[in-house]
This record gives sequence, C-alpha cells and structure tokens, in this order.
Amino acid sequence: MEHQPFETWLLNDEHLTPQQQRELRGHTAACAKCAALARANLSLRAAPVARPANGFALRFQRRLAAERKIQQRRAIIGLALLTLVSIGLIAWLVTPLLPYLSLSPAQLFITWVSALLYLFTAAQAVGAIGSIFSRIALDLIPVSVWAILLVSSAGFGVLWATSLRKTANKKKVYSRVRL
Ligand SMILES: [Zn+2]
Repeated sequence: MEHQPFETWLLNDEHLTPQQQRELRGHTAACAKCAALARANLSLRAAPVARPANGFALRFQRRLAAERKIQQRRAIIGLALLTLVSIGLIAWLVTPLLPYLSLSPAQLFITWVSALLYLFTAAQAVGAIGSIFSRIALDLIPVSVWAILLVSSAGFGVLWATSLRKTANKKKVYSRVRL
C-alpha cells in the first residue's frame, strides 16, 4: 500500500486543506499504520501542557515579599541592639565625668589646677621621703652590702634576659612546627 503523502502529512503534523483531509480520512480508514499515526497525533494534541498551578506566581511573590520583610526586621533589630549597646557604653564611659559637667569653666579650671598641684606635691613628698630613706640607707648600710646587692641584681637581670631569650626561641620553634 502506498502511504505517501499521508505518512509525511501525519509525521510533520502539516496543516491540510479540506480536500487533503478527506483524502487522509479515506486512507486511514483502510490503512492501520497511518490510522495509528493519526491517533498518536490526536493524543499528542490533546495532552495538556504542563502549566504552573493557578496563583503560583502570586504565592511566590508573596513568599519573597514575606522573606524580605523578615530580613528587614532582622536588620532593624540588629541596628537597634547595636545602638542600645553603644549608648550604654557611652553612658558608662561618660557617667564618671558627669559631675564635672555641672561645673562652670572657671571651676573646672580650678579643679584641674588643684589636681595637678596635688599630683605635684604628692610627687615631691614621695621624692623627699625617698631621698631621706636613701640617705639613711646609705649611712646605715656598708659599701660591701651595696656591692653585693648590685652584683645580685645584675645577675638577676642576666638570668631574666636569658630566660626571655629561651622563651623567644621556644616560640620560634613552635611557629616553625606549625608551619
Ligand atoms: Zn498508510
């Protein structure tokens, strides 16, 4: 049986004139093979195109918006926490200085000067006491004791230096091992 041109029409799913359609119907009535092809074409045409469920795009957009809102809220909360912490830190740092803020500039200056004077006199007193003690010590303690003290302190210094160097070497070794 001659299947052409019906087979080509069916395989290419061509658009047919009414005359061609009549001829094809006549052929498929007699030809099982072309009838099967025609049925396959029909079922393919009838198959529903996979489409996203209704409202899918809308739901997706809504979810996206909700997620964005959550992210924004998180950012706002983080910012608020940061602000609170920094305000607390500043308050904690500034609080000891607050009493000074109530003072006038002149009073502040006087306070500053008196504090400086106090420090100066305290240093002077400590220096005077120290010089008195050192003079007494010089008078009381013989030169040999001073020499022993000097030598022993020098020895301690050397020991300290060598121990420092040792720990430094150890650190170098550790860093090398790590590398
Ligand atoms: Zn045929």
